[in-house]
Amino acid sequence: MTTSFTVPAIAAERLPELLRGMPKAELHIHIEGSLEPELIFALAQRNRVAIPYASVEELRSAYAFSNLQSFLDIYYAGASVLLTEQDFYDMAHAYLARAATDNVAHTEIFFDPQTHTARGVAIDTVINGLHRACVDAQKQWGLSAVLILCFLRHLSEEDAFATLEQALPLRDKFIGVGLDSSELGHPPEKFAKVFAKCRSLGLRLVAHAGEEGPPAYIWSALDVLKVERIDHGVQSVHDALLMQRLAQDRIPLTVCPLSNQKLRVFPDLADHNLGALLDAGLVATVNSDDPAYFGGYINENFTQTFAATGLTAQHAYQLAYNSFEGSFIEASQKRVFQDRLQEYFARF
Ligand SMILES: [Zn+2]
Repeated sequence: MTTSFTVPAIAAERLPELLRGMPKAELHIHIEGSLEPELIFALAQRNRVAIPYASVEELRSAYAFSNLQSFLDIYYAGASVLLTEQDFYDMAHAYLARAATDNVAHTEIFFDPQTHTARGVAIDTVINGLHRACVDAQKQWGLSAVLILCFLRHLSEEDAFATLEQALPLRDKFIGVGLDSSELGHPPEKFAKVFAKCRSLGLRLVAHAGEEGPPAYIWSALDVLKVERIDHGVQSVHDALLMQRLAQDRIPLTVCPLSNQKLRVFPDLADHNLGALLDAGLVATVNSDDPAYFGGYINENFTQTFAATGLTAQHAYQLAYNSFEGSFIEASQKRVFQDRLQEYFARF
């Protein structure tokens, strides 16, 4: 389904205000990537965990990555301060408070249990803390929030199976599974069996593909893993047939512009292909990925990308519309959000 709503003319200088205020869904946010240096330090102190940085400033200045791997190294170091259920709650609560301010109406949050279980933290601690924060977000801000469990692709499929088994007693606290971490050298098909199992259990399926990896990874995420949504997917522009497939099957892409800039997928934001993806009729969306590390939450992703690429208010509407369309909420609730969106643009 696509929209035919024509956005009234809006002056370029009012675009940032429009983008910040519009209701939107966030579909690609790693909760461990929302850990701000201040919270890392506070948790390190609370839990008496030693971290290899002397100050918040030193930690923040270490965020000068050159590629996905150098980012992941510091990301896992930051996650090491998370030990108790309250730590996971506090991390998620901080992100959700921020998302509410950014007018996020619905969010689907990734979490990486293996990052924590490998350190001896029980999976119940992780999931219960995150889930409690999601429940409270609905009460506190009317923000709907759900969880998606991600398998780390640099680990084995056996490890993913073991993680799934540990998580299944908490099945009612997450809606689906994803695949993240180091993409190159770890094609989706490595996880064919565990995704087939998850599919049989009725879990929703997504996977990172085509961030740094080739279009072939997007094909195998779709055809082997049978995912319903592609995380990133920006490399699809190098394969015309794939672009057709994504448009035809209305496969959402969860694009993360500031992450792409920081990890040098597109060193200059002005060269980002978000506009090309939209103009080709793809269900592209804007998301923050790891906002504490990549220089901005969802509204920063919108405002900086629009300023750099010259996207219009019509694109803004389409992106927000797509974010609800591409979400895993019920069709009737999607329509409620999309009506609210249209009303916002008509009134602006
Ligand atoms: Zn990601």
